[in-house]
Amino acid sequence: MRVTIAGGGIGGLATALSLHAAGITDVVVHEAVPSIRPLGVGINLLPHAVRELTEIGLAGPLAGIGVPTAELAYFNAFGQEIWAEPRGLDAGYHWPQYSVPRGALQMLLLEAVVDRLGAGAVRTSSPVRGAGHDGDLLIAADGIRSTVRAALYPDEGPPPWNGLVLWRGTTRGRPFRTGRSMIMAGDGEQKFVAYPISAPDRNGDVLINWIAERPAEEAASRGDWNRRVDPATFLPHFADWRFDWLDVPGVIEAAGEVFEYPMVDRDPLPRWTFGDVTLLGDAAHAMYPIGSNGASQAILDARVLAHALATGRGAEAYEAERRPPTTAIALANRKMGPEVVMRLARERAPEGFTDVDAVIPLAERTEIAAAYKKTAGFDPALLNERASWSV
Ligand SMILES: Cc1cc2nc3c(=O)[nH]c(=O)nc-3n(C[C@H](O)[C@H](O)[C@H](O)COP(=O)(O)OP(=O)(O)OC[C@H]3O[C@@H](n4cnc5c(N)ncnc54)[C@H](O)[C@@H]3O)c2cc1C
Repeated sequence: MRVTIAGGGIGGLATALSLHAAGITDVVVHEAVPSIRPLGVGINLLPHAVRELTEIGLAGPLAGIGVPTAELAYFNAFGQEIWAEPRGLDAGYHWPQYSVPRGALQMLLLEAVVDRLGAGAVRTSSPVRGAGHDGDLLIAADGIRSTVRAALYPDEGPPPWNGLVLWRGTTRGRPFRTGRSMIMAGDGEQKFVAYPISAPDRNGDVLINWIAERPAEEAASRGDWNRRVDPATFLPHFADWRFDWLDVPGVIEAAGEVFEYPMVDRDPLPRWTFGDVTLLGDAAHAMYPIGSNGASQAILDARVLAHALATGRGAEAYEAERRPPTTAIALANRKMGPEVVMRLARERAPEGFTDVDAVIPLAERTEIAAAYKKTAGFDPALLNERASWSV
């Protein structure tokens, strides 16, 4: 079977490795850019994605680039804790959750592809121009602005924007909470996310990945992850967010480069597979960067597709397994996913609280967190017990 993959991002490279692990080795990745460089800031790999990368033999290198996330915690805009839960191994999963620099993950996958499939398996400066190809299957992993998707759905237009803008950056600073915590503070409109993507250096400082988010009048370049901005444009909105456990304006001010990204996604599709062409990753189901799903879901796609092809069930079986859950996650993310607790806290206690239980009872908070894990496929018991997708 000859497979062509459009796109050498995390989805495309994970697909090449998954196919190879499943015994399908005649695979070529076509990447549009002249050279694959370590771009992007931090992303999270949830335990279900770490399981899949572990099963294709990447646990060691992954541990070398990732910070094993120990905790996820939500706060209101005054820095008061609404909810905190253990994550990864600390939450009883058999696999860690990792916070990683996106570029390091992409380079790790690229190295593994070149190592296992040969240097000729990745062709750069090789943009795929449509849904035509000369192999047995074209897998479109060419991202949120997918050319192949546009050929299949010519009337779709640009990714829809919800009026929010994300500013992303990294800053060297003191560790907070557990030292391996991912925190989100906000009120449902305006939000700040932070988590470390490096181990402590000699001075005990870590590289903090952060995202500031709020409504904006306009958003340039939908789907371009690399647009630089001056933090002065949004810093004043976070000036009061000095918590005793994290100085938000201080973190923003001390950042290196800052990038702007409008909160865009794609409407769920009725169909991904058209004969010998199928969609994968963001090309199939770009979703808001909520709940740490972008890269994780692409990796799950890769493994399910490889399993379906190697067991003779074809791309339709992959689509049947993956389209319903990714559609559900994309729609849940449009309603803020598990982050809805921050909006509820603002609606019910706009001036803050002394007792969070009186604002959002424990049972309600527990249910919000558990429901999202089920939707996104990382309920601990289900994931630990699920049969492997290795062939
Ligand atoms: C430069 C960049 C930076 C990012 N930074 C972040 C970040 O900081 N945080 C975050 O959460 N997510 C980020 N993302 C998105 C995140 O990587 C994805 O949501 C997720 O990993 C799913 O990956 P994917 O492989 O489906 O898509 P992507 O990671 O977008 O990869 C798509 C790949 O396809 C290539 N491509 C596009 N068109 C063509 C074509 N016609 N032919 C061949 N190749 C093509 C692109 O150059 C890219 O390498 C970034 C994406 C990119 C491309």
